Amino acid sequence: MLSCKEVTHLVSESLDRKLSISERFRMQLHFRICAYCRNFRRQMTFLRQACRRLAEGKAPFDSDQG
Ligand SMILES: [Zn+2]
Repeated sequence: MLSCKEVTHLVSESLDRKLSISERFRMQLHFRICAYCRNFRRQMTFLRQACRRLAEGKAPFDSDQG
């Protein structure tokens, strides 16, 4: 089982590279039992989307998802 530290590291990594199947699988297992890491992933994903929208010249937080 991965530790929270390893999972948060993998979440960060996943924003910059594709994780392997086994990495994703072990992360998913951890998310099942750990609300802290689920929240962390959600926040990272949210921030990442906001940054991407800014880079595309769009408003970061409106609800227009196309
Ligand atoms: Zn955790």
